Amino acid sequence: MNLNPLKAKLMAFMQGRYGPDPMYKGLFGLSIGLLVLNMIIGSGVLGFLAMAVIIYSLFRFFSKNRALRAAENQRYLAFMDKARKKWLLTRNRLKFFRTHRYRTCPSCKTPLRLEKKVGAMHVTCPVCKNSFDVTIRF
Ligand SMILES: [Zn+2]
Repeated sequence: MNLNPLKAKLMAFMQGRYGPDPMYKGLFGLSIGLLVLNMIIGSGVLGFLAMAVIIYSLFRFFSKNRALRAAENQRYLAFMDKARKKWLLTRNRLKFFRTHRYRTCPSCKTPLRLEKKVGAMHVTCPVCKNSFDVTIRF
């Protein structure tokens, strides 16, 4: 290989280190968000938080405990997936507020979109086939 000495040193330094992952990008975005918010509000606490997030993301980037960092990233991805689903559900609740109501299946916890018919009705969950009573008041 024909590498320049600086690049070779950098590669030797990064050997076995974790590097970037989706959580790293998420933390980077969070720190930028905190810095922008800090500029608007001008709170020292936010600036300190942004610095803490940056230091933590750099610690993860250069960490040699790759297994632990990968596990953190998996938890981060699961959390973001849950947050994204919650956001979509909230958005759809508002979007279909005139025509539909949302209820959660008591058995499998799947959110179900029901036609807005005021009164009591019997519902069968399409996922787990559990049937239960629902009352829609308005
Ligand atoms: Zn169900």
